[in-house]
Amino acid sequence: MASVKVAVRVRPFNERELSMDCKCIIHMQDNKTSIVNQHQTLSHMTPKEFVYDASYWSFDHTDSHYVSQLDVYQDLGKMTLDSAFDGYNACVCAYGQTGSGKSFSMMGLADSDQLQGLIPRISKNLFCTINSGQCQQTTYRCEVSYLEIYNEKVRDLLRSKDKGLSENLKVREHPKTGVYVQDLSQHTVVNYDDVDELLTRGNHNRTVASTQMNEASSRSHAIFTVKFCQAKMVDNFPSETISKINLVDLAGSERADSTGATGIRLKEGGNINKSLLTFINVISTLADMSGEQTKKQYVPYRDSVLTWLLKDSLGGNSKTVILAAISPADVNYAETMSTLRYANRAKNIINKPTVNEDPNV
Ligand code: ADP
Ligand code: MG
Repeated sequence: MASVKVAVRVRPFNERELSMDCKCIIHMQDNKTSIVNQHQTLSHMTPKEFVYDASYWSFDHTDSHYVSQLDVYQDLGKMTLDSAFDGYNACVCAYGQTGSGKSFSMMGLADSDQLQGLIPRISKNLFCTINSGQCQQTTYRCEVSYLEIYNEKVRDLLRSKDKGLSENLKVREHPKTGVYVQDLSQHTVVNYDDVDELLTRGNHNRTVASTQMNEASSRSHAIFTVKFCQAKMVDNFPSETISKINLVDLAGSERADSTGATGIRLKEGGNINKSLLTFINVISTLADMSGEQTKKQYVPYRDSVLTWLLKDSLGGNSKTVILAAISPADVNYAETMSTLRYANRAKNIINKPTVNEDPNV
C-alpha cells in the first residue's frame, strides 16, 4: 500500500498578471501552501493552509528558496525513476488550470538544458543509470509511446506522417497485461537522443494537430509512456520485470470548480471534457473510499478514455505522483483554490503497487 504523493508548484507572474498589477496570494513554507482571499475584509483575511507531500516555490527565481526544474526532478523525478528500476509502475500527472505551469513542469523548454522538465530529465537519467554499468548482470529494453486524448479520441503523436495523425485508436483491456491502446506505435529507444527525437516529433505533432483543428492543446491530455523491461538471472533462473512510467500533462482544469462530484460541466464548443470530468470523479471516489477500506465503491474508470488508460495509476498498481500547478495571482483565486482542494483530496488515495514479474518468463 502506498498513498499517492501530492506536490504543489507555484509559477512566477505572467505578463498579463504583471500588467494587471496582481498581488501574490500564495505562501509556502516547508511542505505547506497557504492562500489568502484578497477580497475578504481585512479582519477575515486568515490564510487557508494546506499540507502536501511537497510545496514548490517557483515564484521568484532570485529567491534563495526558489525551486528549479532540477530540484523538482531530484525530488519527484528521481523517485519515479527509482520506482521503475525497482520494478514498479510509476506515474506523474500534472493537474491545474491552463497557464499554471503543467507543461513547463512536465516537458519544460526544449531549447535550454536548465529549463528541461520531468519528461526529458527522467528519460536522460534512465539511460545514465543503465549505461553507468552498475547493474552489469541486467539487460534492459525500453520502448516509448506518446498519445493525446481529445474529445475522447486517442491520437498517436508518434505515428509516421504517411499514416496520418488523426486516428481514433481503440482502447482495450488484456486479461493479463491490462489496458492498452490498440495499434499505438511503440518505439524502441537505446539512448537519450532517440527519446529526444521522438519528443520533438510528438510535441510538434501535438501543436500542428491542435492548430489545424482550431483547438487549444489546453483541452487535450497528453500521455508519454516509457515501458521498461529488466532481465536478469536470479539464482540461475531468468527473471524479468516490466515497469511502465506514465507521464501525463492533463487538460486545463478551469471551470472544474464549484462542482462537487456531480454535474461538473466542462463544455468546450458543445463537448464536455469527459476525460477530465471523470478524472476528477475518480479521484473523489478513491479519496472517499480510502477512509473505509472495507467499503467497496464503484470507481468509474471506464467512463472515460483517460481514466481507463490510467486505471492502474489511480488507486491501482502504481507509485503515483500528482503535481498540482498553480498561479500566484489574486485574479486566479477561485481556480487556484479549486486546484488546492482537489490536490488535498488526492492525498487520501491509496495505491497497491507490486513488482511486475513477467508471467511469460
Ligand atoms: P500549462 O501547461 O499549465 O497551460 P505552461 O506550462 O504552458 O502552462 O506555463 C505557462 C507559462 O508560464 C509558460 O510561458 C511557462 O514557460 C511559464 N512558466 C510556468 N511555470 C513556470 C516556472 N515554474 N518558472 C518559470 N516559468 C514558468
Ligand atoms: Mg500545457
